[in-house]
Amino acid sequence: MKDIILDSMSELIASMDVNFNFTYFNKTYHSEFKKIFGPDLKIGDNILKKLSHLPKDQKKVEDIWGRAIRGEEFIVIQTLGDTNRERNTYEISYSSVKDDKGEITGAMHIVRDVTIRENLRQKAEQSMMAKQRFLSSISHELRTPLNSILGFSQLISYDKEKKNSELYSKSILRSGKHLLGLINDTLDYNKIQEGMLSVSPEVINPYELLVDIVEDMKNYALENDVKLYMNCDEHKDINIIADNQRYKQIIFNLVSNAIKYNKKNGSVEIKSKNENGMLIVEICDTGIGIENSDICKLWEPFDRLSNEATSIQGTGLGLTITKMLADMMNGVLDVKSEKGKGSVFSIGFISTTKTPVNIAKEYIHTKDDIFEEYTGKVIYIEDNTFNVVLMTNIMEFNFPKVQYEYSYDGHNAMKKICETDPDVILLDINLDGCNGIDILKNIRKNNKFSTKKVIMISADVTENIQKKCIQNGADAYLSKPIIIPAFLRTISPFLKKSDE
Ligand code: ADP
Repeated sequence: MKDIILDSMSELIASMDVNFNFTYFNKTYHSEFKKIFGPDLKIGDNILKKLSHLPKDQKKVEDIWGRAIRGEEFIVIQTLGDTNRERNTYEISYSSVKDDKGEITGAMHIVRDVTIRENLRQKAEQSMMAKQRFLSSISHELRTPLNSILGFSQLISYDKEKKNSELYSKSILRSGKHLLGLINDTLDYNKIQEGMLSVSPEVINPYELLVDIVEDMKNYALENDVKLYMNCDEHKDINIIADNQRYKQIIFNLVSNAIKYNKKNGSVEIKSKNENGMLIVEICDTGIGIENSDICKLWEPFDRLSNEATSIQGTGLGLTITKMLADMMNGVLDVKSEKGKGSVFSIGFISTTKTPVNIAKEYIHTKDDIFEEYTGKVIYIEDNTFNVVLMTNIMEFNFPKVQYEYSYDGHNAMKKICETDPDVILLDINLDGCNGIDILKNIRKNNKFSTKKVIMISADVTENIQKKCIQNGADAYLSKPIIIPAFLRTISPFLKKSDE
């Protein structure tokens, strides 16, 4: 009975005499010993002889069994096995075996395979260390722009004669944008790491996106004394399958790097080619280039290839995210570079003959924009005082003829909308105790308001929130923080002009 119980245990149990000869082993021990070390075992076998083909393990066994034979009781965590095979981790408890008179006659051990537990512990330790490294890098990265924002805001309050206020406010804006980029990159990086970022591939036309990006980046290129060209007309009708927003993010990142790491009077050219059923967009710059040995570090998080010491702002996360996004969408990201001469980053996606679905844009471009001439009624439903003050100033400054009202009360939003009868409703999503999307649904349910224009404005950056808003009847979506030109371009088509 005793043997049946011992043989059915998953633990390996064995004992030996003071000369290292086995006096007992259970069935599991017998089979595992063979699996781990090779030889078959019999009672009476000498363990040291059995391990003569594994001198390192033989020495370990001799030392450890020796301690137990001398009367020590202890537990060790040990990795055992042939180096050519998988080595498992074991928790082994040793104790001596005594006769009736209390004399030591040998030793015994109980062995538990703890490989899974140990692997999990190691993984948790590694992830904890990676998190600590991440937090220490990110807190350093956050402090730099914050230092500039806090410092220049204080300088503005000292600058009574407003001599340098414009310079200071430009610096605050620049650092604020950098901070925003850092937060967005960090969120994306974390989401990808945790497998929480999803992409929604659909048929898109890259040409339209590239035109938008060049338009958006024109000023940035100008500020950096870099000429920005686009030569993709030949492939303007080629469509690919990718997530619209994430594709834009990839190109945006590559173009912004090409401008950032350029030289004075340098240039950036966006070209396209259609090769082997793949539409490849190349971003070619005449910039500082990258050392051959550094190319493999480009995708590493926080590695800025010594650029941390320069005044060029960055997080070292852009290309990491770009690479991860490209991989998630089956895109092919490549780079060729020559130090001192420039780089070519390329991103390729399989082309498709299918036609693109209509994608709701974050904002609509209008060219004429003399905003003073616009009229109409606007109401902003928002529970945060700072956001209301900011919007009130934006509206009063840009649209002096527009009747503008606000309400902090999301619960009574419908009542307020009825009273005001606005042309445009600016609607926050996370209102105190209620959700802006529910208010949007109520607006769309009500026939009287079905034609009202609703712009959702939210700091909610969770996946697909923009799509959810548009699906529920929003006319546009803007994410916080508000970028004023984008806001003006979004709201103006929904207002009237005084001469109309
Ligand atoms: P960063 O926020 O530093 O720009 P990225 O991940 O986008 O982070 O890029 C990592 C590093 O790769 C940069 O710091 C820079 O040293 C280098 N790099 C990226 N793009 C270029 C380029 N077009 N030319 C030269 N170096 C580049």
